[in-house]
Formats: sequence, structure tokens, C-alpha cells
Amino acid sequence: MVELKNWLNQQREKGGLRSLRPVIRRGKGRLTLAGDEARELLDFSSNDYLALAEHPALIAAAQEALHRFGTGSGAARLMSGDLAVHHELEEAVARLKGKEAALTFGSGYLANIGIIPALLARHDLIFSDRLNHASIHDGCRLSGARLVRFRHNDLNHLEDLLKKKRGTGTALIVVESIYSMDGDRCQLRELVTLKERFGCLLMVDEAHATGVFGAKGGGVIEEDGVNGAVDLSMGTFGKALGSYGAYVAGNKEMIDYLLNRARSFIFSTALPPAVTASSLAAVRLIGHSSLRRELHEKIACFKDLLRTGGYLAELGPSQIIPIPVGESGVALKKADLLRAQGIFATAIRPPTVPDGTARLRFSITRHHSKADLAQAAKAILEIMEYRPS
Ligand SMILES: *Cc1c(COP(=O)(O)O)cnc(C)c1O
Repeated sequence: MVELKNWLNQQREKGGLRSLRPVIRRGKGRLTLAGDEARELLDFSSNDYLALAEHPALIAAAQEALHRFGTGSGAARLMSGDLAVHHELEEAVARLKGKEAALTFGSGYLANIGIIPALLARHDLIFSDRLNHASIHDGCRLSGARLVRFRHNDLNHLEDLLKKKRGTGTALIVVESIYSMDGDRCQLRELVTLKERFGCLLMVDEAHATGVFGAKGGGVIEEDGVNGAVDLSMGTFGKALGSYGAYVAGNKEMIDYLLNRARSFIFSTALPPAVTASSLAAVRLIGHSSLRRELHEKIACFKDLLRTGGYLAELGPSQIIPIPVGESGVALKKADLLRAQGIFATAIRPPTVPDGTARLRFSITRHHSKADLAQAAKAILEIMEYRPS
């Protein structure tokens, strides 16, 4: 027990100790923090990009499923937890992603730690972007395959590594299409060229792209027109889709194989009917381009406000906008300053991001009004000490 205490004390001294603080959601992208209920904050930390978590169609779908089927699914899919709504959702996802079939998982974390070890083992190779999400990294480690990490979004580095190390076993290239903490985008067409040239499988995690990119909301894979070339098209229901859970889409053989081999699918209780029904409602809704158009107008507006205020650093191509700060302590202090101005944005610190790259992460959602965006931009310019030119 002494070691736990030492560890906790060391972390506390470094400003690296995390703790939980409940938020009270007030709707429309507003929240308050427990113990400070008087101060309403604009939420710039949510991944509910399309504001679907409060959408009447998702709520109605969940309520109906609750009344008809109860709360829990009662068992794993391969036992007796398999419901028609799981299949409807998987068919809708397969259509969305332009694939033959799809399989749902309890969460994105479970999907990534299930899919990768099902396909690769010792003697195989995985080429993984250095900034990939922890769940991808953990899936790679769990597989026992040799892990080769390439510099973030550096395809020359990936090509060099493929030339040197590819060998003859099974090899996987795994990337995110929109990176969760940097908001930048992978070069998917070039990745497809490399995967074909070196005979690798390609897996793309679209946790932050599904619903946000692509004419039908099918993500960067749809926007770049490479559905056919991506072997494993993975994503989650918990972000822009406003629900919970995850999926992978692929050809029929791949999905049949995963449902027999992915341990986090086999040995885990099926998603509850109400959650599954709201995910299905979300997949149907995101086909409407008006939701996406509204979001992208807000993203452009926010970036314009920062630019015209004199903000010079990179703002990136997506709804996720990191404001680089550097040290953890500074990031926490700046997050406090923002809160004093009514803005809630999370300070992202190591180990979530590399040492010395702590940042404030802003995510734009469809909840934000022009006035909300202006208030946030003004606060950022002030705390980052930008002066209007
Ligand atoms: C959030 C996220 C996950 C995990 O998904 P959950 O459903 O929250 O477990 C996986 N990959 C990426 C890139 C993510 O951002």
C-alpha cells in the first residue's frame, strides 16, 4: 500500500494526478460542474459533434426499445443476447461504410483490442501511426505481433519501414482518419497505394470522422472514395452518433471470421437494446447533409474568428482544434482561466499526449451558436495573449 501512496503523492506534486468531477448537463451544449452550479459553462469538450445525444429521434428510438425489450440484453450475442435490432444496425452500418457486412462491439476500446489480436499474432507485423489511440496500441500489444510505429502522418517513414521490415507474414497498417487529440487527417489515398504495393491489410479508425465527413456521413473513407480498399473500417457510436458502442465493417468473410475470433466480441454482453436502437436512429439521421453542413459552417466560423483575432498557429482541417500550450501545469492553469470566462475545454496532458505537448482541446459541435463561438475565440485570444493586429 505504501507504493500506491508514493505514486499518488508524486503525481500530485507533478500536477499529473487525475480525479473525477461530475458535470451537470443543462442541454444545448451547456453544463455546470458539481460544487459550482451557479456558473454555466459552454461545453467545448464534447465529442457529440452533431448534437445527436439530445436529438428527439434518438431518444424516441431508445424509449421504444426500452418499453419493448427492457434494459439489458441479458447475454453475449453468440449466446442468447442477439436481437434483430443488432442486425438492423449492422446492415445500416455496412451500407453507410460501403461494405458487405459489419459487426458491433460494446465500445471502441473493446473493438480495437478485439479486432487486432483476432487477425495478427507473433511472427506477424503491425505498422501503427505513433499517435494512434491507446485502444489501438493496446490491441497491437495484446496480439503479440511485432509492432512498428511510424512517425505521425509521415508516409515516407512508413514506406521506408515497409521496405525494410515487411517480410512475408501477415501485415497490418493501422491509422485513424481524424486524429482524436490533434484533429488532423490521415492521407488515406496514399495509404491505400502503400497497402496495395506491400500487400498489407489496412485498418482505419473513424471514431472522430463518422458522421462528420463524407457526403452521407460515412467518414473520410467515403470522402476519399476508398471504401473498397479499406479492409477494416472501424468507428464508434459514442461520438458524432450520440449513442454508445462501436462497429467494424468489412467483407463478409472478414466479419464472419471476427465474430468467431474477436474475444472482446465473443465474451462480452451484447449492447443493450435501447442503446442499439438509438445508434440505428443516428446512422439513419446522419445521411441528412444539413446536419453536417451546419456543423462545418460553425467550424469555419470559429477558425475565422481566431484568425481575424490574430491567432497564428495551425488550426487543422476538422472539428477538433488543439490550442498548444506545452507543460501540463500551464495547460491546467489556462483551462482554469477559460472556465472563469465561461468556457469549458479540457486540458489534454501526458500520458494522453507526448510529454511537453499539453494542449487545450476544443471541439466544435452543432450546439454552438455564433455568439458561443465568438465568446470562446475571444477567451482563447486573451489567455494565449494574442493582441489584435
Ligand atoms: C474514443 C476512441 C476510441 C474508443 O471508443 P469508445 O467507444 O469510447 O471506447 C477508439 N478510437 C479512437 C480514435 C477514439 O477516439
